[in-house]
Amino acid sequence: MIDVCLLGCGGMMPLPDRRLTALLIRVSGKMVLLDCGEGTQVGLQLAGWGLSSLEAVCFTHYHADHIAGLPGLLATLGNSGKKTPLCLYGPPGLFSVMRGLSVLVPPLPFETYLVEGPDSRKGTIRIGEAKLSSIPADHTAPCFSYRLQLDRAGKFDEKRALKQEIPQCLWKRLQKGESIQWNGRRIESQMVLGPRRKGLKLCYCTDTRPTEEFLRFCRASDLLICEGMYGQEEKRPDAIRKKHMTFSEAAALARDSGSKELWLTHYSPSIKDPFVFLDLARDIFPNAQAGEDLKKKTLFFA
Ligand SMILES: [Zn+2]
Ligand SMILES: [Zn+2]
Repeated sequence: MIDVCLLGCGGMMPLPDRRLTALLIRVSGKMVLLDCGEGTQVGLQLAGWGLSSLEAVCFTHYHADHIAGLPGLLATLGNSGKKTPLCLYGPPGLFSVMRGLSVLVPPLPFETYLVEGPDSRKGTIRIGEAKLSSIPADHTAPCFSYRLQLDRAGKFDEKRALKQEIPQCLWKRLQKGESIQWNGRRIESQMVLGPRRKGLKLCYCTDTRPTEEFLRFCRASDLLICEGMYGQEEKRPDAIRKKHMTFSEAAALARDSGSKELWLTHYSPSIKDPFVFLDLARDIFPNAQAGEDLKKKTLFFA
């Protein structure tokens, strides 16, 4: 399963009741943060999932509304006694951003690994048993969109395992897809597992125009979290010029990709209440929901 918590759903500027962009994901006991806008630390406290299992912070891009929460978070992680490494991942520019932040952040008691993703090729990191991939987005700065995939192994076939005299103490590891050397015999998980079953797919894109590449990338996602910078369709020229999306463009992405559910996020500060415009999205994609700070969901295997 995958746990999701939208820590902040604001774009550009925080509001009294809306933090800036950040999405917290937990999978197989490990956490990853996608974006880290102002107020992310408050969101993390309210989410209540702790900090100790945070493995990575991945950025769509380095506009302040997506990264200004990072120096404070790093300092807090240091003060909390974190010893395990932290991976920082994002599009080109990460090294110079981190050089700049070194003026603000004291030396840290844990290692940081910087992975500056390729500009035009796909990049992938592992979070627990899940795979996090990125592709370039279409924004005014180098920007990535993300996809987290959790595969699901085939069903364990006890009869096959017994017939092949595979000891029961190995079954759990084989179920997880491991291959095991046992008393001079190599036992592969395929020997006891049925065909692969449908896994889970979570996609996240903000600060981008809709692209054909992203449409393919997020095909059949269980949950698509997508920017809706502008509510009214009359704002589409602004969206095109500033490389953002309207609610209905986000909804069309959800519909055309065959996604199951859409959460809108990254609202312009001029949108005081996203629910006012929600029907513009629901007319196109009925399972569109307005993201809110601390909106949570757990995605389960079907
Ligand atoms: Zn933004
Ligand atoms: Zn931006």
